[in-house]
Amino acid sequence: MAALEAHFSQLLGRQGILTDPTAMEPYVSSWRDNWRGRVPAVLRPASTGEVAAVVRECRNLGLSIIPQGGRTGVTGAAQPRMDRDEVIVSLERMDGILEIDTDNDTMTVEAGCILGRLREAAAEVGRLFPLNFGAVGSCQIGGNISTNAGGINVLRYGNTRNLVLGLEVVLADGRVWNGLRGLRKDNAGYDLKQLFIGAEGTLGIITKAVLRLEPHPRGGALSFVALREPADALRLLRRAKDTFADNLVTFELLQQRCVDVTLEHLREGEGPRPGVAPWYGLVEVAGQEDDSLYGDAMQRLLENALETGEILDARLAASGRQAQAIWRLRESIPEAHNRLGFSVKHDISLPVSKIPAFLDEAETALRAEFPAIEMFTFGHLGDGNVHFNPLIEARGGDVLDIRRRVNAIVHDLVIANGGSVSAEHGVGQVRLAEIERYRAGVEVDLMRAVKSALDPWNIMNPGKVLRERAAR
Ligand SMILES: Cc1cc2nc3c(=O)[nH]c(=O)nc-3n(C[C@H](O)[C@H](O)[C@H](O)COP(=O)(O)OP(=O)(O)OC[C@H]3O[C@@H](n4cnc5c(N)ncnc54)[C@H](O)[C@@H]3O)c2cc1C
Repeated sequence: MAALEAHFSQLLGRQGILTDPTAMEPYVSSWRDNWRGRVPAVLRPASTGEVAAVVRECRNLGLSIIPQGGRTGVTGAAQPRMDRDEVIVSLERMDGILEIDTDNDTMTVEAGCILGRLREAAAEVGRLFPLNFGAVGSCQIGGNISTNAGGINVLRYGNTRNLVLGLEVVLADGRVWNGLRGLRKDNAGYDLKQLFIGAEGTLGIITKAVLRLEPHPRGGALSFVALREPADALRLLRRAKDTFADNLVTFELLQQRCVDVTLEHLREGEGPRPGVAPWYGLVEVAGQEDDSLYGDAMQRLLENALETGEILDARLAASGRQAQAIWRLRESIPEAHNRLGFSVKHDISLPVSKIPAFLDEAETALRAEFPAIEMFTFGHLGDGNVHFNPLIEARGGDVLDIRRRVNAIVHDLVIANGGSVSAEHGVGQVRLAEIERYRAGVEVDLMRAVKSALDPWNIMNPGKVLRERAAR
């Protein structure tokens, strides 16, 4: 331990290494507090050169590396496994914004930048960096890229993959790949950056990125809608797409229980909701026209939907403060959810058209086995991603067994409907079994081939995304 400390202090200086258990505590646990582990050291390099030196040294010492961003991931991908000699490599000291090019509409940044700060810096020069979700104030762009994060604006701007033009990555052999090109067209060979996007730190450490910027919208409108059922939400989504086309930025679906629990958590009474209803929708549009234009169009859309009985009621945010209250409610759902009892969480995606039928089918199948189940579903209906979280009375039961049975029911149905068991949160440690079950064969073989080509020593976040094979 002392040798390790001396070694890395020499490479990184005293600020660059933590070994005190109290100081390391936040780094070995996660936001959801469902992962906790131990490592001998947290390394905090301050430059690409230092990251490369750390990787080379870890390889020499036989240590595995857990690249770490803001620790807001929910699959245990940035937390220790406890059955290996691993160190955490935190990118938090690499938080520089290196360049903003308003003609090329790009921003070049270090991986440890907090997402919210990037969005602010872009806004200051009249640009939008569209990635946004509840953890915006703590997650880092390196973590966002490594999880290919989604969030509330995917419907209009795509997920993180669509927002990255170039990367710099430290590879498992300690070499640096400089792919920091801010190009929208580049067909010179394989598009290597795509391998590292969504790889959850298993193929290399991202140190810098070139990000795509968009014009900052000048106006918009937000409505909160009360709905009878998800099929009505789908009808409203179709209507909103026809009306607003590319200006439709967000379409979220929230089950009543999510809203009730979150309002209670926030102590906000009835909050900004438009009456009590089984489901709610949140529709946001934005673009280069004035607020009034979008507000009027939204008003007409809601009136038409009310007339045809598609929606039960609606509230159009009349001010920035009202819009903030609606967003605060939406973004506090994960935190409120965290405080509830045992729930089996799923981050699934399906063809949008199949979501209403899937929700019915999955609830019926679960109720047949767990009659006392309660549903807690919310998510990004517009891009086919729902967080489907049945709440189950687990007292006296075997939690692991319940989780396994619920997962099998839900995920089998997801796959039967042409969906995926991870939409935006990744695989980490929680979905390893599902990768083996649903992606076995050619797909897993290809993934393993990529992993062993880029990390033949298996030192980059081993046991995440792909289960480690037993030693022969
Ligand atoms: C309240 C809340 C709301 C959320 N909402 C959403 C949402 O709407 N959409 C969504 O997609 N996610 C959401 N998340 C999940 C989470 O915020 C995202 O997955 C986020 O992108 C993780 O970023 P991070 O910096 O915290 O990464 P971490 O949790 O630190 O790490 C995540 C993964 O990235 C790897 N990694 C981190 N940095 C690097 C790097 N520089 N190089 C290589 N690998 C790296 C880690 O090894 C790990 O595998 C939410 C989380 C919370 C707490």
